[in-house]
Amino acid sequence: MLVLVINSGSSSLKYQVRDVEAGSVLTEGLIEEIGMGNGGEGDGEIIGPRDHAAALELVDAAIHRELGDLTLAAVGHRVVHGGERFSEPVLIDNEVTRAIERLNPLAPLHNPANVLGIRAISRKWPDMPQVAVFDTAFHRTLPEHAWRYAVPDDLYTNHGIRRYGFHGTSHEYVTHRAASVLGLPLEEFDGVIAHLGNGASVTAIQGGRSVDTSMGFTPLEGLVMGTRSGDLDPSILVFLGRAGWSMEDIDSLLNRQSGLRALAGNNDMRSVVEAAESRDARAAMALAVTSYRLAKYIGAYHVAVGGAQAVVFTAGIGENSHQFRELVAERLGALGVELDAGLNSQRSREPRVISSAASAIPVLVVPTDEERAIAEATAAVVTAASIAPPT
Ligand code: ADP
Repeated sequence: MLVLVINSGSSSLKYQVRDVEAGSVLTEGLIEEIGMGNGGEGDGEIIGPRDHAAALELVDAAIHRELGDLTLAAVGHRVVHGGERFSEPVLIDNEVTRAIERLNPLAPLHNPANVLGIRAISRKWPDMPQVAVFDTAFHRTLPEHAWRYAVPDDLYTNHGIRRYGFHGTSHEYVTHRAASVLGLPLEEFDGVIAHLGNGASVTAIQGGRSVDTSMGFTPLEGLVMGTRSGDLDPSILVFLGRAGWSMEDIDSLLNRQSGLRALAGNNDMRSVVEAAESRDARAAMALAVTSYRLAKYIGAYHVAVGGAQAVVFTAGIGENSHQFRELVAERLGALGVELDAGLNSQRSREPRVISSAASAIPVLVVPTDEERAIAEATAAVVTAASIAPPT
């Protein structure tokens, strides 16, 4: 089954064509600057298409140029916010699209862009089955004590203010693979998953389900990230507001000017690690703050899951930076965690154990693949829908 996976942003559209059974990527690409160019070709290069529909034409042309004639069975969309309603991938119809739109206030940058992608496909291929795979869905199993903020009820009931959590597709995929590396049935797997990319979050897994996660109402809470601050005292916002900062200024400060960028002057972990190795004191401090924050969360989630059977690293930093993994593991000595230096520094694309035989808790590296997970979920939903009795 061939599935087109779409990750539609406000000015970009990332796509992959996947063969689900083979688990392979047939072609992939990225259209950028949507709505910013003049929608044509100039000097032999494609300038930002006018809108998402025009971007989709470019995708369609690129797919046919690369792969010739082919029949797509379905389109799977990464949708950022599924609110409290969506706990699993769903077949998209008008009502689902409107429900995603109603969640716009909770994800003002992302959900409207996701809907643009969905509508562009509906217009171009009206009969194409489309499936929405939500970044929040895996965290619908959080118990109330983990998702509640200690604020008046009205904020939750009238404004939906609670912890939702994100990166769910990745956390779920990695949870399944980690359980299988350990030879455990999913329902018996308790662990801590650290997804460390440009955005970063850590999830507590009990019985194969998410029971706590570091991102909250938005993807700002929790770990120190490339350009996001993660946790801080909310009174800092009040303080800045009283000092005359606008909401836009504060938003930009915390989402775009903070994290590694603020601490080390660079938001790219590879550069920060290299700088620290050349004795750059700011870079070393940035790594200390970032690894300490993650280690604190791992300690907390070890408690949350009643004793983790594994600590799992994934995404760009988690999969590739043996230096960063080492810094985190050094802080986990109290849990009896011990890495095997040789295993930790080996490069591989396979899921693997990197702790020593003596480690009280195994430490794993498990590469994530969100597009693969979206393609598989899409195929499963479409297959189930086509064999379901007509209603
Ligand atoms: P995104 O969240 O955008 O999908 P990725 O999962 O690709 O991001 O992760 C990007 C991060 O991974 C960047 O900070 C990058 O520096 C880091 N990274 C990638 N390779 C390495 C490496 N070899 N060493 C350290 N960091 C790395």
